[in-house]
Amino acid sequence: MTAARSTSPIESPSDDAEILGKISTPVEIVSDDEMAILDSVLALASSRVSLSSLSPVFAQQGIRSIRSSPILSNRRQSGASSSDIEGYGDGRGEKSRAPRSLFHRFRKKKGLSVTDITATEWCEKQMEFVLLLREKRTTKAMRAGTERHKKLEQEVVKKVKIKLQSIEDRWAVRFMNFIAGANQLLFDGLTRELPLIGFIQGAWMVGVIDEIQMPDSEPERLPILVDTKTRVRNVLPAEPQRRNGRLQLMCYKYLWDDAVTDNFPAEQFFSFFKLNPHLVLSDEVKESAVNSDLPAETLDEIVRYYRNTCKMLPPANRKLLLRYELQKDHSLLGEDLFEYDPEFVEGQIKTCLEFWLGGREANYTPDEERWKCRSCQFAPVCPIITGDNRGSSSSQDLYPRLT
Ligand code: SF4
Repeated sequence: MTAARSTSPIESPSDDAEILGKISTPVEIVSDDEMAILDSVLALASSRVSLSSLSPVFAQQGIRSIRSSPILSNRRQSGASSSDIEGYGDGRGEKSRAPRSLFHRFRKKKGLSVTDITATEWCEKQMEFVLLLREKRTTKAMRAGTERHKKLEQEVVKKVKIKLQSIEDRWAVRFMNFIAGANQLLFDGLTRELPLIGFIQGAWMVGVIDEIQMPDSEPERLPILVDTKTRVRNVLPAEPQRRNGRLQLMCYKYLWDDAVTDNFPAEQFFSFFKLNPHLVLSDEVKESAVNSDLPAETLDEIVRYYRNTCKMLPPANRKLLLRYELQKDHSLLGEDLFEYDPEFVEGQIKTCLEFWLGGREANYTPDEERWKCRSCQFAPVCPIITGDNRGSSSSQDLYPRLT
């Protein structure tokens, strides 16, 4: 299926939705509170792993081994549901019961992304390391995958940089991107890199769908959500990776369906992200809005356009499509067309939120999936590998295979 290129003069946001237009990349400053937590994590360093055996990142930081921080260790291992914790997603009562959850420390300003959900499903402990150590290795394959997605987007979307002057500008542009993409889908039958936002199970969640196709032959025309994974080797991934990809697409359908039912809680949205809905947007953003037939002065008006657009859209198709292509020539390796499973995705998000909202400690990847540890950058300091994990049985055998 082909589509005319969208002429929207707006830069599409990344999945983490941080860099838009010419605004400087926002830097999340580490607060004294967070530094204290980090220090306490480092202070718990174990002597079981010698410094020389560590990766350069850890060696530079003088880290030898890390257990959960004292704050984290106060959490239960399992059992708390997201509904047990009040006020974590609506901007009210934030200091009452879960003031130091990972969500509040690291995702309060931008919401939880779908890639956070899938990374958490991959290994909660690894996700915790990424957050606390603020280190995530970017491989050549990952960079190639990002480039491929940019090229796919450029086939149908013409991006124009605009200068943002406020957080309200940034959110306005995101909603305008959604509207432009939704119109492109309705008129051309295809759009790519569509940003989504929703209030899911009491937490704000964001994501960017790779591709949406509108079938023209089915009796019931429901948009099909598509995600493209690039592969270095000429083989399909193992089941845990495919499951992770399926979860990602199901999260997008969850967000999409939530959006089109016009459930968007605008007041909670403004309150949680500390936005002034009546602040006048920058001249460049207003000009872009006018050029997109969305004359507006404020974020509040843009949100109204967004909600009106959502009302025109049908729910997403229950069939979801994962495509696997070879990185070197973009040839198709295989497709996974599967059925949406609402119970599965709701359960996964619930489990994920228990971890993010401080209901329990991070779980390690399960025994049958410990092969993931072989390529994990945090293996040299992970208690399951170093043997610092009390009660673990399988870590002793695995470490030699890592070296
Ligand atoms: S070493 Fe294994 S259990 Fe530990 S963080 Fe990495 S993937 Fe998770």
